[in-house]
Amino acid sequence: MFDPKFNFEFLVQSSSDAIITVGLDQKITSWNKAAEKIYGYSKKEVLGKKIDIIPPKNRKHEIQQFLKKLKAGKQIRNFETERLRKDGTLIHVSISISPVKDNKGKIIGFSAIVRDISEHEKMERKLKLMSEALEKAPDGIQITDLKGKIIYSNRAVKDIYGFSPKEYLGKNVNEMNTDPEFADKVILPSLRKTGRWNGEIMVKHKNGTIFPIWLTASMIKDSKRNPTALVGVIRDITAHKRLDDLKTEFLSVASHELKTPLSTLKLAVEGLMKKCQKEEKSFGQFKYIKLIDKELDHLKSLINELLDISRIETGKMVFRIEKVEISSLIKSVMEKMKLIAEKRKLTFKKPQRFLVMADLYRLEQVLVNLIANAIKCSPDKSEIAISVKKQKNKVVVSVKDRGTGIPKEKLPFIFDKFYQVKKQSPTGFGLGLYISREIIEQHKGKIWAESKLGSGSSFFFSLPLAKRG
Ligand code: ADP
Repeated sequence: MFDPKFNFEFLVQSSSDAIITVGLDQKITSWNKAAEKIYGYSKKEVLGKKIDIIPPKNRKHEIQQFLKKLKAGKQIRNFETERLRKDGTLIHVSISISPVKDNKGKIIGFSAIVRDISEHEKMERKLKLMSEALEKAPDGIQITDLKGKIIYSNRAVKDIYGFSPKEYLGKNVNEMNTDPEFADKVILPSLRKTGRWNGEIMVKHKNGTIFPIWLTASMIKDSKRNPTALVGVIRDITAHKRLDDLKTEFLSVASHELKTPLSTLKLAVEGLMKKCQKEEKSFGQFKYIKLIDKELDHLKSLINELLDISRIETGKMVFRIEKVEISSLIKSVMEKMKLIAEKRKLTFKKPQRFLVMADLYRLEQVLVNLIANAIKCSPDKSEIAISVKKQKNKVVVSVKDRGTGIPKEKLPFIFDKFYQVKKQSPTGFGLGLYISREIIEQHKGKIWAESKLGSGSSFFFSLPLAKRG
């Protein structure tokens, strides 16, 4: 049989909202399970007590306001306020109150439904803080859908592009990029593969000027790991690029200017050396002139490195590609390096013929750099082993030394521009490996290193083998 009383009681007890009734004298007459949970008082503790034990001091007046309204026949709906738990903590609640009437319509008390909104309130405050932080972030931040349509952009975007966030909303990022297909061709495939993309792109300002930005983009996924949106952090790098261009220009001009007097000095020193060798009486001065000659060579290689940097940066490093037999090249480089290897043992076991398509001069430069580094970083009498082997359709060259090694935490940076683990003698600029990487990558190859501090280092590079015929 349907028992309405039973069902009503069941509903009240199983509700997740507190359901409380009070009499006209403001004394509590019922207190469900949720009320016990929200306020921390058991039913026994509160039945018969006045309801004003619940509001904190500064909210006690609300009870009188409620009563006044209710007695005037009005209801209280979703009134948001604070209440006190038994343990003294303040909670945020939303209260709705209606009068309880007898069957003649006379008000005999009040029933209140109370919802604990503390979590909701906390979340709201957090969201507000986050959106304010986003708005005020110094970098441009924008969210787009998977097709590049802008869903959100912060204030910094306005300064970068000149559009107000409202004007910007609904536009597609492709309208801003000078290459409208760049996002589809480059950014999106990378985001799908790795979840992240960063790099420089040229974009258009509202006033029509074109400028570079640095974009770091990542993919936002839902709980089932399906991509839902993209978020991008944008930084205007115009000033930074201008400074960089100036530096490159300075490097190029300075190193070119230094090269001319250096060549004259080198010629003069070579002439002097020949003269000293011929004349017995000048023989004592020979060792000093030889020292000058050695230092001039060092200076020349430093200037050449600076020139290479400006060539790389301006995209002007040219490669004259021809068929190169790599083992013969290694042997000839080793022959030259023996002069500076001093007591170290340079070995090249099992040389085999491998043809690669390369710029002979640039490839020699990489080998010289790797072997010179191995010499600089390893002790007398130690072995520097060079090897070459085939791996699928590539040839891999390695230069192994038993020298100082490189600390694990520094290994990822050694191919960076101007990076030095520690100053070696003769000193360099920390550019050799950076230039070597550029050369190898321009040959569609890879360069990498393995090392253990105290046990030595191995440098490798791989190059595609030349096709037969
Ligand atoms: P440079 O030799 O002018 O300093 P490189 O770019 O050739 O510049 O090398 C960068 C740094 O990497 C070196 O300063 C050195 O600290 C470290 N390094 C390179 N090769 C070796 C090696 N074989 N063993 C130990 N450290 C090395």
